[in-house]
Amino acid sequence: MRKPNPRSRTVRRARAVVPRPGGGSARGTVVRPRLRVGIGADAHPLGPGRRLVLGGVEIPHPRGLSGHSDADVLSHAVCDALLGALGLEDMGTRFPDSDERLRGRSSLWFLEEVAREVLARGFEIVNVDAVILAEAPRLQPHLQAMRQALAAALGVAADSVSVKAKRLEGLGAVGRQEGIMAQAVALLAGGSA
Ligand SMILES: [Zn+2]
Repeated sequence: MRKPNPRSRTVRRARAVVPRPGGGSARGTVVRPRLRVGIGADAHPLGPGRRLVLGGVEIPHPRGLSGHSDADVLSHAVCDALLGALGLEDMGTRFPDSDERLRGRSSLWFLEEVAREVLARGFEIVNVDAVILAEAPRLQPHLQAMRQALAAALGVAADSVSVKAKRLEGLGAVGRQEGIMAQAVALLAGGSA
């Protein structure tokens, strides 16, 4: 059998990814895959006289989430995950409550803005995974629509976005239906090193 040529591209690449404590490779080359992960979380109280909007989808319910915009807790968590992956300030700082132009605005607009920022900084969204923590209403029938609305706002395929719903079995403020929470993670990949 032929001995592998140490100068071959395959061998060089294999060696180049061996990490060293200083951040360099076994051959002294610094290899930094441009992958960035981010996490986001949000919560809004439930109150009367408000629409319940989650992931851009309006859900029939006697109470909705209170907040400056449409209080779409899921979209806000996804925004913060993306901003976090870019190492940027969070949604509250970027889109402050004091900005009257943002009052009542659909949170899908925030997602579109953040998705533009991702592209402008040379990254693309690999995937987003999110979970809504809500005692009621039952969200299962709406998850697919949320997934599609989020993906459309982010400009990615629907299978790059996952949305799950979890009940807290009566525990805590969410369990008492005082509010709804959401958590999300996002992975970004850069085009070049
Ligand atoms: Zn929020």
